[in-house]
Amino acid sequence: MGYYLYDVRGYVGDVASNHGLTLMSGYARKVSDEPQVKKFLEEGLAPITKELIAGFKAIHSTDKDIADTIDNLVDLLAKCDTVAIISDGTGIEAPELTIHRGTHEIGGSCIELCSSSGNTRLIMDLGLPLVNSDRSPFDWGIHRQFTLQQLLSQKILPSIDGLYENDKPTVSAVLLSHAHLDHYGLLRFVHSNVPIYMSMGTKSLTEVSNVFLNTSVKLDRVKTFKMWQTFRIGEFAITPYLMDHSASDAAAFLIEGDGQRIFYTGDFRGHGRKGIVLDRLTKDAPPDINYLIMEGSMLGRDEGLYPDESSVEQALRELILSQKGLTYVFTSSQNLDRLVSIYRAVRRSGKTLIIDLYTAFVLDKLSVISPSIPQFDWEGIRVLYSYYHAQKLAVLDRALLYKYKSAKIDFEDIKDNPDDKVLLAKDSSYFRNIITKLKDTGKSIAIYSMWHGYLERSNLGEFLESHGVPITEIHTSGHAYVNQLKMLADALKPRWIIPIHTFCPEKFKEMFTNVIQLNDDETISLC
Ligand SMILES: [Zn+2]
Repeated sequence: MGYYLYDVRGYVGDVASNHGLTLMSGYARKVSDEPQVKKFLEEGLAPITKELIAGFKAIHSTDKDIADTIDNLVDLLAKCDTVAIISDGTGIEAPELTIHRGTHEIGGSCIELCSSSGNTRLIMDLGLPLVNSDRSPFDWGIHRQFTLQQLLSQKILPSIDGLYENDKPTVSAVLLSHAHLDHYGLLRFVHSNVPIYMSMGTKSLTEVSNVFLNTSVKLDRVKTFKMWQTFRIGEFAITPYLMDHSASDAAAFLIEGDGQRIFYTGDFRGHGRKGIVLDRLTKDAPPDINYLIMEGSMLGRDEGLYPDESSVEQALRELILSQKGLTYVFTSSQNLDRLVSIYRAVRRSGKTLIIDLYTAFVLDKLSVISPSIPQFDWEGIRVLYSYYHAQKLAVLDRALLYKYKSAKIDFEDIKDNPDDKVLLAKDSSYFRNIITKLKDTGKSIAIYSMWHGYLERSNLGEFLESHGVPITEIHTSGHAYVNQLKMLADALKPRWIIPIHTFCPEKFKEMFTNVIQLNDDETISLC
């Protein structure tokens, strides 16, 4: 049993093993001259003062166990503001939290919450990493063929008992915050008896990715939840909150159990088409949050050229309107906010938007969450069929190829009349081939409407330049700015804030006074 340190507001952290603390306590009482140190160790209760902390720091033990325990204790005391009690935690019901990955990186998020009885274990998100341990870009293509055992031994799959196909299933459920691969890319390895919970929109996008991105998520055991409707899994009650993010129908989770209320934000922002949901959440915030597990992607990053999605739409419209020839727009087909911005900008300029079969399928699948999402048969939309995409769709359902046929456009039509067209493009050999074929059809431009980092990593810029296609970046981030992180934390008033999904967790401490910074795979009791 570890020893736990409490302040008046609640739990702070593990101090050491029982053995280490006993050793340290006996030693410190013998050698210390500081009365507050003696009082603290004898009564387990004392004011946290500079003298107390200095008293502990003045003890220099040559025994490594004792020295380590004192260091841990001093670290934890520094986080307390009034009174601390040392307890071995016996008889206290507290869920345990482990962030398996994401305490010091963006991507690969995975959180485990275990009830005090140990009977309910929730996993929130199970994402593919975006970076290797040296921060170089992670390439799933290299690891795709690895066995489960190899993925575990290389720490690509977090080590979690009872979660994967090779184990007896003991995890109660997996909750998915949203359909970005760095949050769900490893779901395929989850044992088929473990249920997976997600929103309707997330399920739709997961289905699309199964067809086009080979994500292989078995959807038969997926249970969908509705936003703001509480449901139970074992000893926990879970309420999903709709969040504004670059993935549709993204959720945050309020999880209640063992007397604790924990809020996990997932990925969010307040400047997309659903920015109003962040406003509403902050104006009508759930009370008494003990722990806020909050993303911090934007810490240490520039905010970018455009502050919000509406300024992106306006810039797109102005550029497309002024362009005399064909326009390529590079974006993610799963970023619905951006697809809507592009569609509206194209329509306002009186031109036609050409999407591929993959994008047509995304929009079709997302029609379940809103009737106002543009569809393949809407005014000003045409669909360009590629052999590769048609093959993929045909495997799923050949009827879809006929369904989208009414809006089909031939490549020759684009070639003959490029000037009133905007072609949604990807950085793929298929689209590079099209750009090469259309090189001499007039003055084309390209708009890059994705995160700048992706452009930096590819040679797309040079490719376009060599084909005489100038490129302009128009984008806004999918993640919360610093002021939005503060806004949410101020509204939720959590006792403690735990950073996740950030390369700069230490920056949380510059913004907030009540931060618990964890390491990957470190388990703490939430009490
Ligand atoms: Zn995301």
